[in-house]
Amino acid sequence: MSSAFKKLSKILELEQRGNYKNKAVIGGIEKYIPVWIESARTEAQSESVLALVEQVADSLMGYGRLPGASARSQLISAILERIELAISQQETPAATPVKTPVVVDTTAVQESAVDDTMVQVEPEPIHQAIQDVVEDVSDEEIVSEEPVEIGEWPDELELPVDTVSGIGAQTATKLEKLGIRTVYDLLTHYPRDYVDYSKLKPINQLEPGDQVTIIGTVKETSVSSSRRGKRITRSLIGDGTASIECTWFNQPWIAEKLRARAAVMISGTVGQYLGRNTFQSPSWELVDGDRLHTGRIVPVYPLTAGISAKVLRSRMKKVVDQWAPQIPDPLPVATRRRHKLMGLVESLREVHFPSNERQLGRARQRIAFEEMLTLQLGLLRMRQQWRSAEGLALEIDQEWLDGFVSSLPFELTQAQQNALDDILKDMAEPVPMNRLLQGDVGCGKTLVAAIAAAIAARNGAQAAFMAPTEILAEQHAKSIRELLPEHKIVLLTGSLVGREREQIYQDITTGTAEIIIGTHALIQENVEFRNLALAIIDEQHRFGVEQRATLQHKGIHPHVLVMTATPIPRTLALSVYGDLDLTIIDEMPPGRKEIKTYWLESHSRQRAYDFITKQVREGYQAFIICPLVEDSADQEIKSATQEYERLSTSVFPDLRLGLMHGRLKSKEKDAAMIRFAEGEIDILVSTTVVEVGIDVPNATIMLIEGANRFGLAQLHQLRGRVGRGEAPSYCILLADRVTPEAKERLTVMTQTDDGFVLAEKDLHLRGPGEFLGTRQSGLPDLKMASVLDVELLEEAREEAQTLYQHDQWLQDPVHNLLSSQVDRFWHDVAGKN
Ligand code: ADP
Ligand code: MG
Repeated sequence: MSSAFKKLSKILELEQRGNYKNKAVIGGIEKYIPVWIESARTEAQSESVLALVEQVADSLMGYGRLPGASARSQLISAILERIELAISQQETPAATPVKTPVVVDTTAVQESAVDDTMVQVEPEPIHQAIQDVVEDVSDEEIVSEEPVEIGEWPDELELPVDTVSGIGAQTATKLEKLGIRTVYDLLTHYPRDYVDYSKLKPINQLEPGDQVTIIGTVKETSVSSSRRGKRITRSLIGDGTASIECTWFNQPWIAEKLRARAAVMISGTVGQYLGRNTFQSPSWELVDGDRLHTGRIVPVYPLTAGISAKVLRSRMKKVVDQWAPQIPDPLPVATRRRHKLMGLVESLREVHFPSNERQLGRARQRIAFEEMLTLQLGLLRMRQQWRSAEGLALEIDQEWLDGFVSSLPFELTQAQQNALDDILKDMAEPVPMNRLLQGDVGCGKTLVAAIAAAIAARNGAQAAFMAPTEILAEQHAKSIRELLPEHKIVLLTGSLVGREREQIYQDITTGTAEIIIGTHALIQENVEFRNLALAIIDEQHRFGVEQRATLQHKGIHPHVLVMTATPIPRTLALSVYGDLDLTIIDEMPPGRKEIKTYWLESHSRQRAYDFITKQVREGYQAFIICPLVEDSADQEIKSATQEYERLSTSVFPDLRLGLMHGRLKSKEKDAAMIRFAEGEIDILVSTTVVEVGIDVPNATIMLIEGANRFGLAQLHQLRGRVGRGEAPSYCILLADRVTPEAKERLTVMTQTDDGFVLAEKDLHLRGPGEFLGTRQSGLPDLKMASVLDVELLEEAREEAQTLYQHDQWLQDPVHNLLSSQVDRFWHDVAGKN
């Protein structure tokens, strides 16, 4: 700990003994502080000490103004305590010393000592504006950059952030909250936005609301106190055309910097006070060194409490200056040339401290491209790894297949036929299949899967079919048993116990069971297959990566077919399921009737009830779906139960109602479902547990309460529960609160029945998170690229394929760096896979 603190302690103790008359120093403590602070800063060995120096100085600058001995005594004891504490907890020598305090941007450190008020004065960011600079760039521009060598990845990049001068243990802890541990993490901590302060204006042309920079000289600066005890620094800046006042709250040290005649640059949004233009808490810099905070496009970083924008910016500048040039470019020259990409070093510089919008745009594009390429290469590699295992080439008994298909009471749709072709072609190869089958609810995926399962069985092997819920598993078992009566089909669910279960286990182990349908129970440890050749996973988004992997590992490289009824737009599917082959069923069996959908205001609820009564009188059945209750399953069940009681007693007293929710035992759920399916219940009041795949053709109407709280995909899934029979079907949406976004969702529901159209819409309304589900956690984080950027995706995919064709495992030395970049990028998720 510095001797400066010891000196200060002595003076403060003297002041205590002198009864707080501010006589310990001639002229008062305020006179001593500016002298003290210089030496204290010089001696400070770490950022936390520096912060303490600033805090102490800051509070002591107000000492003389404290009204009485008791306030003064409190302040002094508080400071003495702080100093003592700091001495006792003195930072370990490992903490990086601040080598040359002159270089340290002390203004920045000072701010870190101030509370978070700094954060809110960050001006409004310029929005997307910069994102889309897609321009033609000549080849020279690319080649004229730093020479490209096959460099080595410098290990120093993996050093902890406190290696950076100016970053001490304290800041490192704060950065860790942002997930930043290494120098490399920091370098790739990209601005979340930018503020364009590159526009300079003379003061006499400023207009309120302008986001600008001015250059001028300080005419005078003063510090005063507001009635509430805030210290206000006022500085009058002139540039020859006019002058303007700038004010800052609680940062009195600014006055020390902005002395009269100093040349300064001020950036901010022009405000008004008493009819005159002012800057309130603008960014400022003395016009001498590098400009970071003013007069340029200024980066705005995602902040964490406790690190001010200014501090982060100046630390980042150091990191970029020192480390960026050391990173070799992982993108091969050929790739960069093909896609006209900026070099890595330059793009790191430009993305953090852009020289202009065009350069920034190119930098962002390059970084995004690299990310997307790395993602795609990783997916390709996974696919390749998957495919390099030896799989079972199954024989396709065409005669049986033709006979089976022609025995169906309907014809396969063209889309089903195509899907079947894809799947059977895969299964006939000695390469394990890994295919995603997508298709809207009711398009007939189950039939396609059943045929695939039968093919496996006819080869003397086993097929497993895993569904997310017991009801669904049962339904699949029922319909597949009907389709394939000649095969031994077993159903394995969690509710199966004792002898029965043991028997099924045994049948699976001995191979007596050919097609095994079930829930998670299928992947229990003690389930052993004799020869699993095909694993089918229904509603894949309900299962995690691990659960899928567990099922796969029940066999030796079985063929895998995953199915989803959540239609993912093709582009998104390619971005994130690039390791899987994709088949889409985009056609419904003929004769499906559109489900007429209406959106009613809640005051029209009675009309909806009347309509339901009418339908029931005609012999049909209805669903009433209760609203989602966020974050509280208990609450949701309670309200469903209450709704059920209310509807039974006062709305439909003459009809037969049933209740279904997630807390019911699966037996009870099944009982309710079976009673409904068999027509013993007229109206099923339910939470969203009926969402997935239940088939009750006689149900023709669905009322969805609180429809505004559901996403489009979920509404569509729910609605798919009706319209499964011959009769016209209806869906009524009731909303309790309608935001503009909810309004858009509800409206589009009434306009289309097409799952893909809805998915596309949902994607734009709610972002990709909704679709990816568990998949998302199996992918690396994209910092810059968006999975929705189609153009970028296509470019990166194409490049990944090109690289792949020439050098499948990226073994060519020119791909060394790229290959380790793929490893690094996918590293964090490796554990999850
Ligand atoms: P998904 O699993 O894709 O939601 P299902 O396989 O459950 O859809 O099919 C829904 C219904 O459509 C089932 O009753 C099924 O028998 C029937 N179906 C399947 N394919 C056809 C077809 N080509 N023509 C007519 N009906 C079909
Ligand atoms: Mg289905």
